[in-house]
Amino acid sequence: MLKSGTDIVIASHNQGKLREIRALLSHFSCNISASSDYNLPEPLETEDSFVGNALLKARYTAEKTGKIALSDDSGLCVNALNGQPGIYSARWAGESKDFNHAMNRVEQELLAQKTDDYSAAFFCALAWVDPINKIEKTFLGTVKGNLTFPPRGNNGFGYDAIFIANGMDKTFGEIAPDHKHSISHRMDAFKQLMQFLS
Ligand code: IMP
Repeated sequence: MLKSGTDIVIASHNQGKLREIRALLSHFSCNISASSDYNLPEPLETEDSFVGNALLKARYTAEKTGKIALSDDSGLCVNALNGQPGIYSARWAGESKDFNHAMNRVEQELLAQKTDDYSAAFFCALAWVDPINKIEKTFLGTVKGNLTFPPRGNNGFGYDAIFIANGMDKTFGEIAPDHKHSISHRMDAFKQLMQFLS
């Protein structure tokens, strides 16, 4: 069981993820900080899977801070694009992290495929690395849906404005953040983490 007052460092520089992870952890009374509070650079994501990259980031942060580190590696996998952008989801937005550019690239690549299969899924790998008790755990969550163009809605971040989860008619960019949290890939992985922590 997670003790109240436990220090947890979220191993991410992505403001959208930090916001969502803080909200998801809010009912535990933990002291939450982020890599940027320790001036830690982002390690290079050299693994070839969401789980591998999540573990790499959490291990790095735990080693540098001596505290429990929680990391998230996530992205959008488009079926007709053989799972791309996948682990390269952030990199498709380029140096300037321009997700209009990234969403446009997804649309152009789908048009080039001449496909009507716009199915896709978000994946989220969470890694929990506790350097004191020497525990490492990973969890993989997902949400399936379809892509729509042009992007719709200003909520969320990244590719939210083009993703409609199965059974819905609004994009993640159009629905309220709490609604997204309740059905997202991140929540799916978090439920598994919560189960582990309790
Ligand atoms: P990384 O995990 O830091 O490599 O970045 C993952 C990228 O995937 C983010 O920069 C977003 O573009 C995208 N992504 C991950 N989760 C979400 C989400 O919940 N909504 C929209 N885009 C996401």
